[in-house]
Amino acid sequence: MTAGRSLPITVRQVGKRYGDLRALDDVDLDVRSGEFLTLLGPSGSGKTTLLMVLAGFARPDHGSIRFGENEVIRLPPHRRDVGVVFQSYALFPHMSVAGNIGFPLRLRKVPRAEIARRVEQALDLVQLSGLGGRRVDALSGGQRQRVALARAVVFAPRILLMDEPLSALDKQLREHMQIELRSLHARLGMTTICVTHDQREALTMSDRVAVIDRGRIMQIDTPRALYERPANRFVAGFVGQSFFLPVTRHGGAVHLDGCALRIAGPVPEGAAHLLLRPERLRILAAPEDGLNLLRGTVMSLAYQGESVLVQVVLAGGARIAVRTGAAASALPAEGAAVLLGLAPEDTVLLADAAA
Ligand code: ADP
Ligand code: MG
Repeated sequence: MTAGRSLPITVRQVGKRYGDLRALDDVDLDVRSGEFLTLLGPSGSGKTTLLMVLAGFARPDHGSIRFGENEVIRLPPHRRDVGVVFQSYALFPHMSVAGNIGFPLRLRKVPRAEIARRVEQALDLVQLSGLGGRRVDALSGGQRQRVALARAVVFAPRILLMDEPLSALDKQLREHMQIELRSLHARLGMTTICVTHDQREALTMSDRVAVIDRGRIMQIDTPRALYERPANRFVAGFVGQSFFLPVTRHGGAVHLDGCALRIAGPVPEGAAHLLLRPERLRILAAPEDGLNLLRGTVMSLAYQGESVLVQVVLAGGARIAVRTGAAASALPAEGAAVLLGLAPEDTVLLADAAA
């Protein structure tokens, strides 16, 4: 497995319908060479369809897909130079681990001694050394996931596609594997597209995240930009917890519940909502200069270990939540009046038109 082999991916106007349903609605997507990009979207948004179209297992109705300079839309899967990890893993259950991992090499008529050498390397890479002789149906979920990964990278493809590779694993192993997938990517360097419906997983693993909804890419950005500057309400609501409060305009100023807001970022034209994230609000003992101040009443508190989620109803009637430290001494009481501070740089407005 040679490090540093990768290709950019260029998707243009790719569409695919199933009857009346637009599974892919004229998708444009640019993935940089060597990038780890995550495709994030709810169930049924077209993630698997897009991945299968890229891998060559599904044929789009129209559009263009280039890997580097090459148009690949007419190439069969094994001529596309892509490794694929399917959601179901699609391993051969009765075959040995080594037999499974070596399969793509046999398909490519690699000599036997070379296969044995490369399978050993791949086993080592996914930390399964010594398990080559095991039957796949004698492995745990986490080990199967590693076999599927080893099989996908054993022929050193320049592109790696993974469809919810961690969804069958329990939470702890999944979080461990998120870090491992990133480090594997850092070592191998292939252009990687990973599908998930888990927003936290997407933020953890990716150089950039593409959010997809109903067959359309809504936004492509770094995890931080996606979270802090979402393009619309769908993205804001899907990535992280959020509340949307309608704002009004008076002259040049934007008002919430009768108070003018200080806003560091862009202010859209027309009707808009303020995006509130629970952890960007601070419970204040007294008003502080330079912050937007919101007044409300504490409805309830939920202790969540590393933090406490405080449900608040604002003076204007909107229900929101504030995430705060778990130290008991700093917590407000249920029914108490609270003063909340929001920094101008965390005051994000989303145009209703973009929703
Ligand atoms: P995701 O992976 O994001 O959950 P999919 O790409 O599997 O979504 O599916 C996108 C949409 O296309 C869904 O509404 C799904 O029901 C539909 N779909 C997928 N495959 C087929 C198929 N073979 N026939 C008909 N409809 C399909
Ligand atoms: Mg899917």
